[in-house]
Amino acid sequence: MHDPQQTIVAVATPPGRGGVGCVRLSGLAAPQIARVLFVPAAGAPPPGPSAPPVFGRFLGRAGRPIDHGYLVLFPPGGSFTGEPTAELWAHGSPAVLDELVAAALAEGALLAGPGEFTYRAVQNGRLDLTRAEAVRDLVQARTAYQARVAFAQAEGALSRRLRPLREELEKWIARGEAAVEFAEESETHLPAGRLAAAIAGAMGSCRDLLDGFRAGRVVRDGATLAMVGLPNVGKSSLFNRLLARERAIVAAQAGTTRDTLEEELDLEGIPLRLIDTAGLRDVSDEVEQEGVRRAQRARDEADLVLLVLDGARGVEPAEAEALRRSLEAPEAPRTIVVVNKCDLAGARTRSIPHPRPFPVSAASGEGLGALRAELRARLVVGGLVEDPVVTNRRHAVALEQTLEALARAAAAAGEGLSEELVVEDLRQALRQLGEITGEFTSEALYDRIFSTFCIGK
Ligand code: GDP
Repeated sequence: MHDPQQTIVAVATPPGRGGVGCVRLSGLAAPQIARVLFVPAAGAPPPGPSAPPVFGRFLGRAGRPIDHGYLVLFPPGGSFTGEPTAELWAHGSPAVLDELVAAALAEGALLAGPGEFTYRAVQNGRLDLTRAEAVRDLVQARTAYQARVAFAQAEGALSRRLRPLREELEKWIARGEAAVEFAEESETHLPAGRLAAAIAGAMGSCRDLLDGFRAGRVVRDGATLAMVGLPNVGKSSLFNRLLARERAIVAAQAGTTRDTLEEELDLEGIPLRLIDTAGLRDVSDEVEQEGVRRAQRARDEADLVLLVLDGARGVEPAEAEALRRSLEAPEAPRTIVVVNKCDLAGARTRSIPHPRPFPVSAASGEGLGALRAELRARLVVGGLVEDPVVTNRRHAVALEQTLEALARAAAAAGEGLSEELVVEDLRQALRQLGEITGEFTSEALYDRIFSTFCIGK
């Protein structure tokens, strides 16, 4: 990250062409640099920090006009970073935006690193760390659900939940410190019963938050679905049907899908990675063997396995074996058996040695709704958490460590160990909570967190 005295610049809109594009400047010199890059249109009021956006011409290097657009100046108290900020809204042309950045660099601005605008917002007390990370998660969200959850956190959902917990710990630490300091006066001892209840309450809050984190995993990180089955049962057709587009190569000849294909779909809020694998067959060809090995690995690692059978054909030995295995723990909760081609005459009546096969047709789309519902039900066992407050692994790890420190404090208090030891464990717990919101965060951790942001954010 640059010196906070320096003014930084970056393109804030995504790479590529679009209707509008934005160059953002933040720092003490931002308004002055922006005014060098901008000439208000005739009759337009001069741009000012509290003025509305002003229309005019943007100038590239050497003062050459390059585009029309709006200049918006934000005063430090009203900007995202807490610094004087300028946004140049031009057309979304990479050539124009790059030229504006080059002109700003020529005026003394420095190119912003990943997340540097948000880093400054945190440094200037505009956001705590959980909210800064939520901004990143919002930008990176792949489904509307993920965006909603990230937005709740950007509005401070987690900080709000942690505040009473921290206040409670601070109160007990202060009382404990007083008790240690005035150890001779017997009435300053910590009331053991109330302390134990307070620690148990704090542990309960941490556990609730962690439960929400675990339940929300599938929505946050997504899940994988491996499709397995003999060649020609219709795996690729089903893959395309689920994706609602032509991705896998469908062919009447067996063994077309030699390697694994992957695509992601949004299953009502769950990012589901579909893996279409090479068939379940024995092969001698080396390339095909590798494909089968990858299929095996995909099947072993996937959250769910779709075992696809051909309803127009009898069950073959390899399929009977796969069906038998699919009924055994630990595979049973992961495997869904689908009988494809149920549009063909006689396909439905064929008996399948499985208690709950799903008849579908990749050709007509029949049965796909029920299959999607089943996939979703299997992935959100225990119900989908509507508002998981903890969604970030870093926060979950810090909460687990808070819980451990609290457990140590509870044990120390329970065993009647010195109050100094109890207080030290409570301080540890508080430090872990502070890591989440950023009070006790090291520079190295800051660097690690902000390196996951995009440039211009
Ligand atoms: P894969 O080898 O398992 O990936 O199978 P494909 O998806 O390539 O399909 C093999 C053949 O079965 C192709 O000729 C498809 O058109 C056909 N097929 C796939 N699904 C269906 C279905 O639901 N109904 C019918 N009638 N034919 C299908």
